[in-house]
Amino acid sequence: MNILVINAGSSSLKYQLFRMPDEKPVCTGLVERIGQADAFIRHKQWEGDAEKVTERTGGLPDHYASLHEVLAILATPGTGVISSPDDIAVVGHRVVHGGEQFADPTIITPAVKETIRTLFSLAPLHNPANYTCIEVAEKTFPHARQVAVFDTAFHQTMPPQAYRYALPESYYREKRIRVYGFHGTSHKYVTQKAMVWLQKPDAKLISIHLGNGCSMAAVDSGRSIDTSMGFGPLAGLIMGTRSGDIDPSVVFHLMESEGKTEAEISALLNKQSGLLGLTGTNDMRDIRKAVRASDAQATLACDLYAYRVRKYIGAYTAVLNGLDAIIFTAGVGENDVDIRESICQDLDYLGIRLDLEKNRTATPGLRAIQSADSRVAILVVPTNEELEIAQQCYRLPGT
Ligand code: ADP
Repeated sequence: MNILVINAGSSSLKYQLFRMPDEKPVCTGLVERIGQADAFIRHKQWEGDAEKVTERTGGLPDHYASLHEVLAILATPGTGVISSPDDIAVVGHRVVHGGEQFADPTIITPAVKETIRTLFSLAPLHNPANYTCIEVAEKTFPHARQVAVFDTAFHQTMPPQAYRYALPESYYREKRIRVYGFHGTSHKYVTQKAMVWLQKPDAKLISIHLGNGCSMAAVDSGRSIDTSMGFGPLAGLIMGTRSGDIDPSVVFHLMESEGKTEAEISALLNKQSGLLGLTGTNDMRDIRKAVRASDAQATLACDLYAYRVRKYIGAYTAVLNGLDAIIFTAGVGENDVDIRESICQDLDYLGIRLDLEKNRTATPGLRAIQSADSRVAILVVPTNEELEIAQQCYRLPGT
């Protein structure tokens, strides 16, 4: 069975095709700058051990044209991986916001689409793009089952003490202002891998997703009980371009004393802050080079970044009332040896001790990097949100 996973952004689209049940990735690709003259597709497929890359540029005015071009590549006679759109049994869509309505993967019906529409105001940058791609995929693959997998779903198990804000009751009851949390598909995937590795279904885990966006989750027995992002993806950790936690008084101050508009402040906190704001780049690899060259701003940025993660480790150890493992994942978490070292420094009191040598030895797949005397396992688990979506689609009854 072929399951096509689609992860749409406002001007980009990532896709991956899996052959189930053996979970074999057949091909993967990325469409970027949709709607611009220099839009391009980069498609990669595997034949045995050989990797074949196809690139196409231009002629991609919208998501519809983009997905059609992807289909043309998938079904190219002789070199394609399918022979017709009907070879795709399921299209799994990553949908960012499922509100309180969706806690599980969901077969897309007109009513589900309508609900996703009502959630546009909660995720104005993401849900409209996800919705567009659902409509496009329905037309492109008319006989496939369309399934939505929500980024917020995994966190729907949080108790009210974790998800409620101390605002007047009506703000929750009428406007649904609460913590939703994101990166749920990634937190779920890596914590399940950790539970299997630990052979402990009731493990107490802290999942640390450090990519462009960054978040943490406290997970007890496979259930998310707290997470660092909030109503939107701005709260919590310092990220590539987002500030993470700040006192909302800063917003009022900037509005009152500098006359900044809501749009300017949104751009400031979402797009100009975080590592980018502190150093001028949001790419941790460049920041790392600058740290090695003794750049003071880059060093400060890494200190702030690691310190914030350490504070959340402390908080989540408390709310979990114990800890079996912390898990590093995503671009920075999987690859940046030094940030893992800074984060794990002086956490002996919590039983977290890093083996410096193991931390520096990169091997593929899950690896444990704690020292022999560490009470808590320290795991590096490569995330795979696309595979997690494919698995959730495959497990849906009737698929
Ligand atoms: P996204 O949230 O876009 O999925 P990723 O998980 O791909 O992000 O992470 C992107 C981040 O990972 C970038 O900031 C990049 O600098 C960082 N990154 C990737 N490789 C490395 C590396 N080898 N060392 C440090 N950081 C890395």
